[in-house]
Amino acid sequence: IVTTGGVFYYITQRERNPGPQLPHDPSKKNVVVVGSGWGSTAFLKNLDTSEYNVTVISPRNFFLFTPLLPSVAVGTIAPNSILQPIRYLTRHKDRKITVIEAEAKSVDPIAKTITFADETEVQGEVSSTTIPFDYLIYAVGAETQTFGIPGVKEHACFMKEIQDAEKFKRRFMDCIESAGFPGQREEEIERLLHMVVVGGGPTGIEVSGELHDFLEDDLKFWYPELAQKIKITLIEALPSVLPMFSRELIDYTVSTFKESKIDILTGTMVKEVKEKTVVLQMPDKTIKEVPVGMVVWAGGNKARGVSIDLMSRLVDAQKNKRGITVDDHLRMAGTDGTIFAVGDCTSTQYAPTAQVASQQGAYIARMFKQLAKRDALLEQIMTVQKEGGSTESLEKQLTKVENLRPFHYSHQGSLAYIGSEKAIADLEFFHHKFSSGGVATFLFWRSAYMSTLFSLRNRVLVSTDWLKVKLFGRDLVR
Ligand code: NAD
Repeated sequence: IVTTGGVFYYITQRERNPGPQLPHDPSKKNVVVVGSGWGSTAFLKNLDTSEYNVTVISPRNFFLFTPLLPSVAVGTIAPNSILQPIRYLTRHKDRKITVIEAEAKSVDPIAKTITFADETEVQGEVSSTTIPFDYLIYAVGAETQTFGIPGVKEHACFMKEIQDAEKFKRRFMDCIESAGFPGQREEEIERLLHMVVVGGGPTGIEVSGELHDFLEDDLKFWYPELAQKIKITLIEALPSVLPMFSRELIDYTVSTFKESKIDILTGTMVKEVKEKTVVLQMPDKTIKEVPVGMVVWAGGNKARGVSIDLMSRLVDAQKNKRGITVDDHLRMAGTDGTIFAVGDCTSTQYAPTAQVASQQGAYIARMFKQLAKRDALLEQIMTVQKEGGSTESLEKQLTKVENLRPFHYSHQGSLAYIGSEKAIADLEFFHHKFSSGGVATFLFWRSAYMSTLFSLRNRVLVSTDWLKVKLFGRDLVR
């Protein structure tokens, strides 16, 4: 125990106290990274920073492990357990990486500048500025798609940022406590306890599953008279939920939800969200207004305003409004090859997932190693040419280095938690597909997430949260 404790202490102390870093080097190229999500952190993790001066710009100074957000929403996991300050990563690199907490406002792809602003509560005298870049890694992600449906922004709860999960928990508990208020009419109690989740993609499914667990494992004991009246309805416009999973796993999810008493309404479209009701267009095109306590909106993603502005500056090459068009090497179409776009802000043949963004970020970091070699060779060639020497062998090397391999996505599979300690997985091993669902898949789901968590600190915190919930249950505080 003492030895293990000693080793653990040594590792944590090394993580806490990164060594000194080299300063920025004016002779090196400046790389600006926008965002602190899956794409940018994968890039930063894999980048050889001795070759570049790096600046990270993001409106949040942390990385969020998005797959566990629905677990935070119901209090299975504490918010901070799935966050990791971005400086934790940048302080462990060779050369100093400058981190700026700010929101990117616009990118000028011709002048190669980026303008950003500090939009947080507290600001200093300077809160907006523009800086130049040699290379830009554009990884701003996406925002929630509402399709302009009235009332969604005002009355629904999203599930994208950490604040959304916290807001969800507060609202949900508020609905339950208000339902328990003395003298409440039966109809009003039913309304307050009707939870509607919109969107049958992985986010909507996971939120519904987690809500069901909260109800079964905790609320039934603490609110016995109310818990039996809580109703969860999942609404999906398409004929089926989870279109990215195999038919077998879709059926498994539907039957698990049936057992869990979660109603799934497919072919049903939400037309409006009001303060106390939601307006639905049913499969037979009739309109129905249903009383609700809370609506969770998991209707998918769309491009952010800053990305739309950037695309509009390169209108001939950027015709796809869903996201940034990139070439095989993830260079933004219409630019001179110095702007790279990764993750959910792009529009590619791949689904906008964490897996894709991470592989893209890591790919660009590898490519930057080659770009550094290319730039060094070009400089050498110029010097030799000035001196009148032969550049033949250098040019041969340059041809090799310039031969950049295109990005190739390797799909490891899809995983989703469906509640009742069951998960579904469509996996690929050595080009063979496997589908599985159930309790064993749930244990696999947990271990897969445990291994992809950002740091040792996150792993310790999340496993402690899981243990805490097993022993004491989820807390009911708002
Ligand atoms: P999504 O785009 O996968 O699903 C949104 C769903 O909402 C769609 O099926 C759409 O038909 C439905 N919808 C939209 N408007 C509607 C309306 N007005 N009425 C009824 N239904 C409506 O969104 P998501 O679940 O947030 O996922 C986004 C991306 O992130 C996907 O690529 C997904 O694969 C990925 N993701 C993966 C996981 C996982 O693998 N565990 C978890 C979360 C997200």
